[in-house]
Amino acid sequence: MTTTLTLVQGDITRQSADAIVNAANSSLLGGGGVDGAIHRRGGPEILAACRALRASHYGKGLATGQAVATTAGALDARWVIHTVGPVWSATEDRSALLSSCYRESLRIADELGARTVAFPAISTGVYGWPMDDGARIALDTVRTARTAVREVRFVLFDDAAHRVFEAAMG
Ligand code: ADP
Repeated sequence: MTTTLTLVQGDITRQSADAIVNAANSSLLGGGGVDGAIHRRGGPEILAACRALRASHYGKGLATGQAVATTAGALDARWVIHTVGPVWSATEDRSALLSSCYRESLRIADELGARTVAFPAISTGVYGWPMDDGARIALDTVRTARTAVREVRFVLFDDAAHRVFEAAMG
């Protein structure tokens, strides 16, 4: 089965997709950037679902590189898939963890039966990952993933990020 990769510029909370991926933090209880935007527009149902996860299987939160799904609340999607990107380090290569975020999110999407999945550029905001390297890891991982997802859409917040992804796409 072929997976189509698309790049769009915009706000991921305005996208229509089966699943929207959140660049969450390990607490699952919200934060800034994409996370804040998803909870703001998606409404309290998402936070309630995250709290329920913390009260059950994710007592210590979600580990870096892992992914878990909740309702998408008021977003135009069926699910939000929360994944925790690594914080960029100049001294330690954490790219396997960043790659894992994309792979694990797609694995969860497959479990759910999601066919269209929208991703932000995980770790490239507050977590400081350089956009060009983040784009390369994102695209390489999705291209080589075994998944039934038909469309993976990268939603880049600004024109600069969009151009970096376009260049990395080749
Ligand atoms: P992280 O903590 O994983 O770095 P951030 O949310 O801070 O997560 O940033 C990840 C990327 O998402 C950054 O490139 C940022 O510019 C972008 N971003 C922020 N808000 C949105 C949004 N509403 N839609 C899409 N991308 C967003």
